[in-house]
Order: sequence, then structure tokens, then C-alpha cells
Amino acid sequence: MSTTTTTTPGRADRLAHDVGERELDVLVVSEPADVRYLTGYTGSNGIAVLGPGRGGVRLFLTDFRYVTQVERQVGAEWDKRMAAQELIGPGLAEHLPAGDGSTLRVGFDDAHISVKQHARLAGLVGDRAELVPAGGMVVALRAVKDASEVERLRAASRLADAALSEIVERGLGGRTERDVAIDLEMAMRRAGADSPSFPPIVASGANGALPHAEPRDVAIEPGTLVTIDWGARLDGYCSDCTRTFAVGEPAGDAREVYELVLRAQETALAAVRAGPTGKEIDAVAREIITAGGHGEHFGHGLGHGVGLEVHEGPVLSRRGETALVPGHVVTVEPGVYVPGRLGVRIEDLVVVTENGADVLTGLPKGLQVVA
Ligand code: ZN
Ligand code: ZN
Repeated sequence: MSTTTTTTPGRADRLAHDVGERELDVLVVSEPADVRYLTGYTGSNGIAVLGPGRGGVRLFLTDFRYVTQVERQVGAEWDKRMAAQELIGPGLAEHLPAGDGSTLRVGFDDAHISVKQHARLAGLVGDRAELVPAGGMVVALRAVKDASEVERLRAASRLADAALSEIVERGLGGRTERDVAIDLEMAMRRAGADSPSFPPIVASGANGALPHAEPRDVAIEPGTLVTIDWGARLDGYCSDCTRTFAVGEPAGDAREVYELVLRAQETALAAVRAGPTGKEIDAVAREIITAGGHGEHFGHGLGHGVGLEVHEGPVLSRRGETALVPGHVVTVEPGVYVPGRLGVRIEDLVVVTENGADVLTGLPKGLQVVA
């Protein structure tokens, strides 16, 4: 686990401004990735309560188990207090800022707080506070990365690249998908990763036609394609990359499918810059794959934002209405999945910059025939 202290008063100030715009007195930030982003706290039970109300609130609540960790990780701008272990409930209720006679408007994360937690909290605060649904406010800030976050994403990507190269050099043919996946995970951890970003996907032959295939106890056959989708979490930040290899010379039209996906990926990647919406970038890849006769075999969106979580905003898909801005970090990962036969996916992680884009993942993309 990382012990780096991130001092991020600027983030809290920006969020407090947004909280005021929403006419809330305070916002309760409870999702671990959001809490980490705002405060640097990496433990599992801590919430931040902040807003412009009552003279500016910066409250951090945890329970007795994390007091030392909070002292080390959470900056001096936060008023740190020990509360009941059930934070969304008695913990928060006992530490809500005192009223000035009016009802406190408290925003909560309706995307994550359960109906049960909400009912319990509402019962405890009574008419001292009105609970207002306000999910997604920190997520919106997190989508635009600052320079230090981009450097962390780059470092995670480099670590993951090196780990995969090490595994592929040893050969893939004849090993089971599961064995390769475990080996890759270990290589990332040995190189210093906190963990993998997600359990690695290693999918060969017809299994490659399942975009979220789970590695099987089945040997990778010569003459097939194998798709490996993996990432490293380093200092909290995730990388995400996919490469498809040929184990020996591939049979049938595998090479043609590969070249089609590669052309779609490179063209869409080159289109990433500030300005276009996620939908427009998605369309660049989708048109190429459709013209190549495989439109119905590309069933998922082109990409997604990556940061403290491996899937965050903005989204590159037919539903991607957000225009890209400098600081967005997204994947570009078209795929073609021919049921019962094969799958190809190629994925890079890219940051939108002031004058274009900068690809964070670095492994070659021409079809590599490996042992
Ligand atoms: Zn991926
Ligand atoms: Zn991805």
C-alpha cells in the first residue's frame, strides 16, 4: 500500500465551490476513490464532509482503527475527528456542523449510499438536515487529471508494459490461460504494483470472442490468437492496455481481422484531442470496422476514462456526449469478436493534452507472432 501523502487543498476548494453552486451547505464524500482523491486517505473507513456552508466546512471522519493513518495522510486543512465506526449513520449524525436555526442541506452520494443507510441516517438527523441526492460531483472533477496524476498513470503503464514483455518472452504456446494470467499478475506485483488494476484477461482462440473472458485452465493452442488485457495499479492509479498476439502463424482470416482492428485503433487514437465528443471518436473506429464487414462484431464502446479507478469518466461510446478536454485520460480499444472463432482487441491509454494527445502505453502494435 502506498503511504504517499497527497496534499490536495486545491481539489477540496474546487469541490466546495461546486457544492455551493448546487445550493448545498455540505457534501458527504464517501466512496473510497473519491475520498482518496480529495484527501490522500487510502484506508477503507473514512468520509470527507465539505462545503461552503457554516463558514466553510472541511471535516474528515474516521473510526479509532485509522486515527494514526489519517494523521499521516490527511492534510492540516481538514478537521480530523474520530467517530462511530458506522460513518454513514451515527458517525456523521454526531459530527454534522451545528445548525444556525435553518435546516442544513447535506448532499450525499446517491449512486453508492444504500437505501438502508439513507433511511438510518435520515432517522438520526431528523429535521436538523435535509439529505439531497448529489452523486457524481467528485467523479466529474476526477475525470480531468493534473500533471502529477498523468505521471502516475504513465508510471503504472510502463510497469505493466515491462511485466507483459517479460511474460511474452517466455512464450505463450502450450501454457494455460490461467497460468499466464497468474504469472503476469505476479510480475506486476514484483515490479512494485499495489495490485493489478483488475484480474488480467488471457483469452485464446474462440475464448477470445468473449470480451470479458475469464482465463481458463486450457492450454493456448499454436495457430491461434491470444488477447491479453491487463493493467497495474501503482500509487493508487490504474493502467489499462490490451494486446493480441499470434501463437505461431495464425489460421484463416485472423491476420485480416487483426489488421482491420489495428487500422481502426490507430485512426481513432490519432483522432483523440481536445474538442470532439466521446461519441465522435467512437464513430471513427466504428466506421472502419463496419466498412470492413465486422460492425456487428464490435459490440462494446470504444473506450473509457481511467484514473484511481479503471473505469471512470469520460466514456467513448455511442453515449459519449462529453467533449474531450486537456487532462482527460481515456482508453482506445476497438475489438472484433467472431463468435466461436476468434477475437482481436487492441487498447492503448492516452492523455488529451493542450496540443493533441500523448499515448501512455508503449508496446508495439503490429501483429507479433510469438512462441
Ligand atoms: Zn483493458
Ligand atoms: Zn479498458
